Amino acid sequence: MKSATAEGDRLDAAAASREERQQFGSDNYAGICPEALQALLAANGGHARSYGDDEWTRRAADRLRDVFETDCDVYFVFNGTAANSLALASLCQSYHSVVCHTLAHAETDECGAPEFFSNGAKLLPVAGDNGKLTPAAIEEVVTRRTDIHYPKAKVVTLTQASEVGTVYSPDELRAISATARQYGLRVHMDGARFANAVASLQLAPAELSWRAGVDVLCFGGTKMGLPVGEAVIFFDRELAQDFAYRCKQAGQLASKMRFLAAPWVGILENGHWRRHADHANNMARYLASELARRTDWPLLFPVQANAVFVQLPADIEAGLRAHGWLFYTFIGAGGARLMCGWDMRPATIDLFLRDVDALLDRRP
Ligand SMILES: *Cc1c(COP(=O)(O)O)cnc(C)c1O
Repeated sequence: MKSATAEGDRLDAAAASREERQQFGSDNYAGICPEALQALLAANGGHARSYGDDEWTRRAADRLRDVFETDCDVYFVFNGTAANSLALASLCQSYHSVVCHTLAHAETDECGAPEFFSNGAKLLPVAGDNGKLTPAAIEEVVTRRTDIHYPKAKVVTLTQASEVGTVYSPDELRAISATARQYGLRVHMDGARFANAVASLQLAPAELSWRAGVDVLCFGGTKMGLPVGEAVIFFDRELAQDFAYRCKQAGQLASKMRFLAAPWVGILENGHWRRHADHANNMARYLASELARRTDWPLLFPVQANAVFVQLPADIEAGLRAHGWLFYTFIGAGGARLMCGWDMRPATIDLFLRDVDALLDRRP
């Protein structure tokens, strides 16, 4: 036991001396939050049954039922692509189609996995302001073709918070699901950043999910501070029929499931997940307001979660990259995406802003 502690101290010291700079590339650049890590270590205490038949998995699923205030079906998978693809596949047949936003992760970043796992269901991308779908846009695409020669629309998928850092209000969600119901569509939510949406709107998770008409939610754990894993939550439990087989066939059934589940127990207790998401959102707001204070660079989207999209002048973008800053410029409508993870330090943002100031000073 003594040596384990000494090893821990040595690792801590090594991590501190490396001083790996925090970055804005993605919220999945961040490490594991302390509460998740502690639970992970606790789950490593001895033997447990495999394939999800263990206490940690039961507890994690129960905690999620508490958090969502309903008796839902919960499955843990390794990542968001699998969660979305398998959930969508469970909502439709191969001859159906799935309405999504043109910027939806399922459309742009999942390598055709939703189509693959559904054996050919077609994604129908639809444009919309601020990365969001509207009832009118859904109605337009669903009624455009209703003949036998075109795949029948069966699902609408929404991303909350959206790919461009905006959030759907409960009213917007309810309007969308009303339209979906009207046309016989199921509602799926990609909640890779659901925690940030909950923190932003300061509402109960139920208000942004099943009470607003969502049938299935893929609740993201990874970006929220877990080491790995997402929870697929079926509010309509009938839709979860045989889902366990789907997971197994797709290589998504973890044999040591307790290590996917335990971090959820750690982070869901005492609202740690909301606190971390709230912090990430605050950091994004701080970054956006400080940029707005010193420049006239346009913010491309309202900052409602943990992302800042800003149109950087070319020389500034190059200068920041030369200073070693990492961020993406290919997501959404272009511009730089500056992402704040659960662990973002104000000092990191200040360092970034100092480099911005220095680049501005050096301009001719
Ligand atoms: C990160 C992310 C996912 C999950 O991606 P994986 O890399 O497959 O875990 C899903 N949806 C959105 C909107 C994301 O940002």
